[in-house]
Amino acid sequence: MFGKVLIANRGEIALRILRACRELGVRTVAVHSEADTEAKYVKLADESVCIGPASSSHSYLNIPAIISAAEVTDAEAIHPGYGFLSENADFAERVEKSGFAFIGPRPETIRLMGDKVSAKNAMREAGVPCVPGSEGALPDDPKEIVKIGRAVGYPVIIKAAGGGGGRGMRVVHTEAALLNAVNMTRSEAGAAFNNSTVYMEKFLENPRHVEIQVLSDAHRNSVYLGERDCSMQRRHQKVIEEAPAPDINRRVLTRVGDRCAEACRRINYRGAGTFEFLYENGEFYFIEMNTRVQVEHPVTELITGIDIVQAQIRIAAGEKLWFKQRDVELRGHAIECRINAEDPFKFTPSPGKINNWHPPGGPGIRVDSHAYSGYTVPPHYDSMIGKVIAYGDTREQAIRRMRIALSEMMVDGIKTNIPLHQDLMLDARFIKGGASIHYLEEKLAAKSEATKGK
Ligand code: ADP
Repeated sequence: MFGKVLIANRGEIALRILRACRELGVRTVAVHSEADTEAKYVKLADESVCIGPASSSHSYLNIPAIISAAEVTDAEAIHPGYGFLSENADFAERVEKSGFAFIGPRPETIRLMGDKVSAKNAMREAGVPCVPGSEGALPDDPKEIVKIGRAVGYPVIIKAAGGGGGRGMRVVHTEAALLNAVNMTRSEAGAAFNNSTVYMEKFLENPRHVEIQVLSDAHRNSVYLGERDCSMQRRHQKVIEEAPAPDINRRVLTRVGDRCAEACRRINYRGAGTFEFLYENGEFYFIEMNTRVQVEHPVTELITGIDIVQAQIRIAAGEKLWFKQRDVELRGHAIECRINAEDPFKFTPSPGKINNWHPPGGPGIRVDSHAYSGYTVPPHYDSMIGKVIAYGDTREQAIRRMRIALSEMMVDGIKTNIPLHQDLMLDARFIKGGASIHYLEEKLAAKSEATKGK
């Protein structure tokens, strides 16, 4: 096991990684920007290094500063968390070339999965079901593109190979609009991602977002830890996640989960990862792989009893997976609400000082947050200030516990989206389970329509 790990992230995930390290008996280095000097997790870490000003491009994205911090503190490994540099293959490579372990996949794997065209090709070869579409990148010849569009069938979606964060996509409903859409997506992708390669997929009209968590050691042992439903989204951002996904064909899930584990063995995957799928009419369609820990990992931890962050660290230290697929048992149900510092219905960010912070507790409640009374939410970063996770024997019990937890929770001084979550925990469609990725947006649009002019 490593003696010391550097945590190249901030906020709740920095604290989460810190806790995992402490439990493993590993010392920690927190790196932070000038805006996060006072953060509690920075003080809890064995050592801390300021790596730059508030702006993340000069701090949390500053590769030389992070590598120097690891050098001066004699850290052996670097955990990138999520966001920031976590899926940056050049960073992973620099970390390894500088003699540190990167707690994540090999740089080549990050690169392979970071290009959606090569990722899809690799998955197709491994037998993972993909959204039907062009075989690889779209050619330049307009006649060929039109031909592909006809074969795929409208509506289609044009996507940038280098896209991410919900950007670089365009839905096309008719052949007449196709070539223009392809050209526009190409030029936007070239400007935004420095890669103008685009591809085409069938546009699924009413899918759910269901993803499969995998763990894979460096010795080609791979397992999948069931699935999560993350269909409650706004602007492609997940708001609520749960595990297991309600009302899923378990036979199909087992088959797809096995293919994911097999794909990991084939590409020699290392660490934790997530295969994201759209799920429609009982079928899974791969869209992309995230080669890092995800915000929503706790719901899987609660139903499997497996600590995913500790697993990442142990795998990076070279340990073999200590359990087999048949040992993975899903028990109960877990739901996570992302708590954001924002107006609950207008969604404008609401940074500032939290005067009073009373997190909920009681049976089945877990709160992952770095916030506390007196903590100031800086305006420079993502608005998520924590996550409330409720576990129950059944989905109904998890929802009941979540309602109680949200009613106990008090965050005074800034606005949060807790009222939105309270609303959703009473929403008939959410309670039924299995709503599509469009449900929340439609609900919010209807609400804003209804309150217009009032
Ligand atoms: P990103 O990396 O930008 O998140 P994804 O490929 O994961 O891009 O797609 C983001 C979102 O776009 C999906 O969660 C889904 O809502 C929508 N989407 C992507 N591909 C399709 C498709 N073929 N059909 C319908 N919706 C899609």
